[in-house]
Amino acid sequence: MRLFEAIVEANQRAVKGDARAGIHVSEFADSLPVVALTCIDPRLNKLMPGVLGVPEEQFIWLRNAGNIITSSLSSTTRSLALACAVKGGKEIAIIGHSDCKVRQTSVGEMVDRFRALGVERARLPDNLVEYFGLFASERQNVIKAVDFVRSSPLIGSKVPVHGLLVDTATGKLEWVVNGYQALAAPATAQPSAHVNVDGPKLTKPTQVSASEGEELPPPPKPQIIPAPPPLLPKRPMPTRTRAPWER
Ligand SMILES: [Zn+2]
Repeated sequence: MRLFEAIVEANQRAVKGDARAGIHVSEFADSLPVVALTCIDPRLNKLMPGVLGVPEEQFIWLRNAGNIITSSLSSTTRSLALACAVKGGKEIAIIGHSDCKVRQTSVGEMVDRFRALGVERARLPDNLVEYFGLFASERQNVIKAVDFVRSSPLIGSKVPVHGLLVDTATGKLEWVVNGYQALAAPATAQPSAHVNVDGPKLTKPTQVSASEGEELPPPPKPQIIPAPPPLLPKRPMPTRTRAPWER
């Protein structure tokens, strides 16, 4: 059994009341530390990394509002890449959570909240859904984030990228994307190895409410991992011309 499979199994046994459930960290030394992206929700403060059963020193924790990844080269993706390259992270987990306020806040409510903070609508981008990466389903949001990270040219192909959901009330973990399955797939673009679990299906997402005529997010497309976007081309160093005082 691989690390996150052991983590999820032990977590679910613990939630059912097995006081002895846990992972033997020494058996998974090659898979640690793990890198996790979660939401900023303070309810997660006391859950992580305990629900995973990994020690704090083996847990590299990135957080943003809604555990949102907006692109395979976004700043959060870059931090995940550095967490692996600089801090030795071996596996990445995008961990969404139940009852996420980022999902529950409609565009209209968000505009009102910004206005109450002195940020008028005109100062915000036109499409807030796209700009903030707002989402209608915690599960779909995790799948989208995993796809962006998995397809990022900055993330090593041997680094598993998992998707999980955690219940903020019980601490129960649930698979969304088993990243080991994607590693086992052929190198050509393949659909992500999504675990079929209960929840909204890809074709029937719940809709976020919008107001002010703002567009709802487009319906999810089939989860095909796009080819990694090319990195920025290396620019030749500019030829240095002599300053007048050097002539
Ligand atoms: Zn949240």
